[in-house]
Amino acid sequence: MNNIKDIVDFIERSNYFLVTSHINPDGDNIGSTLSMYLALKNLGKEVYYVLDDTIPKNISFLTDDISILKSDNINIKNYSVITLDCGDKKRICIEDRLIENAQKLINIDHHISNDFFGDYNYVDSDGSSTCELVYNLLSQYELVKNKSIIDEKVATSLYTGLLTDTGNFMYQSAKETSFDMAKNLLKKGAKKDLIIQKVFQSNSFNYYKLLGEALNTLKVYNNKVALISVTKEMMEKNDISFGDVDGIASYTRDIEGIEVGILLKQKDENEVKVSLRSKSYVDVSEIAKSLGGGGHKRASGCTIYDSVDNAINKVIECVLKAI
Ligand code: 5GP
Ligand code: MN
Repeated sequence: MNNIKDIVDFIERSNYFLVTSHINPDGDNIGSTLSMYLALKNLGKEVYYVLDDTIPKNISFLTDDISILKSDNINIKNYSVITLDCGDKKRICIEDRLIENAQKLINIDHHISNDFFGDYNYVDSDGSSTCELVYNLLSQYELVKNKSIIDEKVATSLYTGLLTDTGNFMYQSAKETSFDMAKNLLKKGAKKDLIIQKVFQSNSFNYYKLLGEALNTLKVYNNKVALISVTKEMMEKNDISFGDVDGIASYTRDIEGIEVGILLKQKDENEVKVSLRSKSYVDVSEIAKSLGGGGHKRASGCTIYDSVDNAINKVIECVLKAI
């Protein structure tokens, strides 16, 4: 484990960077990667934002004027890679060659399942979000090097990830430090009202049609576990992309008396993405790990390569054992 200062010093003396995050991007993934990208640009570094996945619609307002490249288009030398919000080296969303050829790999993350895969690691599972860790790092940078790098756009990106990963400051992960961070980002010009409108108040009519169908699949097990499944057919029929369905997971957890909520999303005939959420005491990262995934105590995920019905049986068996 490195302290923040080692990473600050490394960034100060290096010039070429590639920043990236995990597959199935969410607000913290994009907020943390984008804020690091913009801060490195503010420092005059040559930096590329690379991600081989699509940005969810409700977050894309952040990246509309940013050039996000695919691995295919990258052919640079003597660069280092900074991965943000990636708990697992296998989930980094760029081609392996770009990781293998990097001079250094810097791993900044808050997943409890992170195994410190970088040459430099700033991993803290107490952080509400990777954005909180990036905020700490950039604030330290400003202090130690006497430079100003958190501008309005950086602040807006960081505030987005802080909001989405804390469920609008609702989860246990939102601590005093998160509120201090929010206050300081607002002082620096974070566009709070725009973020709320774009992220939480821009759902399409089709999204609600899909949500209606999804809620009809709701099943409860042992009064403590709730499950919703969304098939590929349901998404196609309502013209909703795979990456735009994540919000439905919280409906399962938010039922009175339910401790573990589960959302199954079918990506392909035999590929099902599982989201696990818990309310107060079950460590769902352990359940996800036992199914080949990982995450946080209260929010984790994995992929099961099987039919939806078989995936339901596998997940329910593991969850009922853990509860
Ligand atoms: P979600 O259910 O929203 O996709 O993910 C919840 C949390 O678990 C996120 O922090 C996400 O990064 C993590 N996560 C989701 N799927 C996987 C997975 O397959 N492997 C690992 N290591 N983490 C995952
Ligand atoms: Mn995160």
